[in-house]
Amino acid sequence: MRLFDHHVHTDRSDGRLSLAARAESVKRRPHGVSDHFPYHEGFRTDDDVLRYLDDAARLGLRVGIEYDLGVAPPLRPSTLDALHYVIGAVHQVFLDGRRIGFDVAGAYLKGQLGSGPFRDAALFASEEVRRRILEETLRAVRDGVERLDVDILGHPTFTPIAALGDPDAGYPLEWQERLIEICRAGGVAIEVNESYRVPHRAFLERARDRGALFSVGSDSHGEIGPLRRTEAMIREAGLAQDRFLDGGRVRGPRHDGPDARSAASSS
Ligand SMILES: [Zn+2]
Ligand SMILES: [Zn+2]
Repeated sequence: MRLFDHHVHTDRSDGRLSLAARAESVKRRPHGVSDHFPYHEGFRTDDDVLRYLDDAARLGLRVGIEYDLGVAPPLRPSTLDALHYVIGAVHQVFLDGRRIGFDVAGAYLKGQLGSGPFRDAALFASEEVRRRILEETLRAVRDGVERLDVDILGHPTFTPIAALGDPDAGYPLEWQERLIEICRAGGVAIEVNESYRVPHRAFLERARDRGALFSVGSDSHGEIGPLRRTEAMIREAGLAQDRFLDGGRVRGPRHDGPDARSAASSS
């Protein structure tokens, strides 16, 4: 099964390898680049994104961004159009003005905090807090789908709740169904994320049964490695190859052109 990896970082944001190094690893297995937007002061404007696109595309790379849903500054439609694809992802929500970051949970899910229980679990013990985090997450996703027309939802079920244990128990079924429906109705591919190992199998099976599209994302920050978890997740959930994006937009570019290449538009 040929899997195109859309979600790869470089040293233009928090990745450790250069665009040139990424252009080399494409020869080992197909992938694009998709750095965080925004990132520090050098990656905040339309011009910054267009320069990044230009630099990466000149090396032969497919180029996206990982747009920080809910907090990133707006980009012009023409900038979004110029990219080969756009990943939208939620990395925090705000409750009563207080930032709830997902980064510690992310490090835990990636195995970077060692074994043992999630150390911030007590912060999410309240069902009311969990419910509000999930509502705010959905709101950010819906906004990204409607306003930005994102192509891919990055690490869809990654929130601190995923770090608490069984995600199919932690995420109410109706919340999972609403998230899937936003993606399905909006033509947004659900990312199978190698680093965070999300979404869980039952979620992927539900999304498959609803006719959702999918996308592969290793979320690599260092060397490109094998997609072992991703391949297992795809196999176990029975996802068909023709439902996966292949380095391009879901619906082809917003303006027709030679760039129109994706599993969805060619099948
Ligand atoms: Zn992310
Ligand atoms: Zn990422």
